[in-house]
Amino acid sequence: MQQKIEFKPELIKRYDKAGPRYTSYPTANLFNAHFSPEDYCAAAARSNKEVKPKPLSLYFHIPFCNTVCFYCACNKIVTKRRDRATPYLDHLFREIKMQGALYENSRPVDQLHWGGGTPTFLNHDQMRTLMEKTGQYFSLMNNDKGEYSIEIDPREVTADGVHFLRDIGFNRLSLGVQDFDAKVQKAVNRIQSEEITFTAINAAREAKFKSVSVDLIYGLPFQSVASFLTTLDKIMQVDPDRLSVFNYAHLPTLFMPQRRINEEDLPSAAEKLEILQAVIQYLTDKGYVYVGMDHFAKPDDELVIAQNKGQLYRNFQGYSTHADCDMVAMGITAISQVNNIYSQNVRDEESYYQMIDEGKLPLLRGFVLTDDDLLRRDLISQLICNFRLDMDHFMTKYTLDFARYFKKELSLLKTMQDDGLLQIDDKTITVLPPGRLLIRNICMTFDAHLNDNQKIRFSKVI
Ligand code: SF4
Repeated sequence: MQQKIEFKPELIKRYDKAGPRYTSYPTANLFNAHFSPEDYCAAAARSNKEVKPKPLSLYFHIPFCNTVCFYCACNKIVTKRRDRATPYLDHLFREIKMQGALYENSRPVDQLHWGGGTPTFLNHDQMRTLMEKTGQYFSLMNNDKGEYSIEIDPREVTADGVHFLRDIGFNRLSLGVQDFDAKVQKAVNRIQSEEITFTAINAAREAKFKSVSVDLIYGLPFQSVASFLTTLDKIMQVDPDRLSVFNYAHLPTLFMPQRRINEEDLPSAAEKLEILQAVIQYLTDKGYVYVGMDHFAKPDDELVIAQNKGQLYRNFQGYSTHADCDMVAMGITAISQVNNIYSQNVRDEESYYQMIDEGKLPLLRGFVLTDDDLLRRDLISQLICNFRLDMDHFMTKYTLDFARYFKKELSLLKTMQDDGLLQIDDKTITVLPPGRLLIRNICMTFDAHLNDNQKIRFSKVI
């Protein structure tokens, strides 16, 4: 079943409220400082002892950026000093060794991702060494079967550089474009010519990357339907496999760089909605399938194929076709998900270096999931990935009476059902085409931790 999507502005306006993106459940704002390194090590040990230990997914956070994009909400360190990467990598290598010692060597690394910041801030020697150190302490797959991806900044990478990334083992690549319009680029301090973007994408094709994904953002200063469609026209020339079209959430009190964006230059909520509608129309006319949560992909892309089989997954790196892995994340701010816990590393270089120098895992906080959290996480993941929940299967898996356990939630969903967002019968909850853009709202119904205090920390759904 390919996911159709129906744009209903009146429903979107009615349901448009702040909500999590559910790359984790419970969400990261609930992680707490009571969580200890012992809790983390115990979870790693439990994960090794499962009847069938899960494969691993490794994430490395490279926080450095050469310049700041004003819309950015990532954890990054803006610096022109390339030598800052040297002590960072020295400590990262030591963290890799500490983490590697916690996991059975027989567990293959199914997924690997370098994110940031800007991973391509590193020079080639540094990148090669990082991959080699990883291979020293974890079982990397050398047959190109893993999902090994990197975020690149086309301003930081040449065609040769893209080939180099393929040579050291990456097979998927995503790159930030955001918008080609010169006025928009100036307003967000990200000047990136079409030429360098196309050079990177064409090189990725030549190097036989399995998937090339492009990130765009709508809701930036000076954007209009016409200007955004021009950007889409241009990007179609290089035929990306996947597109992520993110909604810019202007939260200047939370993210300092956003204070440099002039609010008066931002499109209104109504204009943003028109841009979104135009994007959906444009991309579906071009044959892209709406995967969910800002993501579009070609019908033969493995994300779409996995979704059609009900085998799509979601984690901190977004959608994935690889079954549930234990995710071990390294570098500052990185978040791991292992067994029944989440843990997050410290946020600043100084604390990170100090803790590693003291031989400690550089943990800041974490969360131990209860049985209720675990089953709700599974439920939310099924809805958000596959737009469908088989209640019978869920009842058997968790030995519970679905109607009784989720009595309150099912009654809350009634209004959404009446509004045509979803359909509930005896056995299944199915999200209908008008509900797919509002999947976060539907999932929020099952979020036992969501209260009014927490909601203000999230961006709006659309
Ligand atoms: S958007 Fe990317 S390149 Fe720009 S400041 Fe943020 S992390 Fe750095």
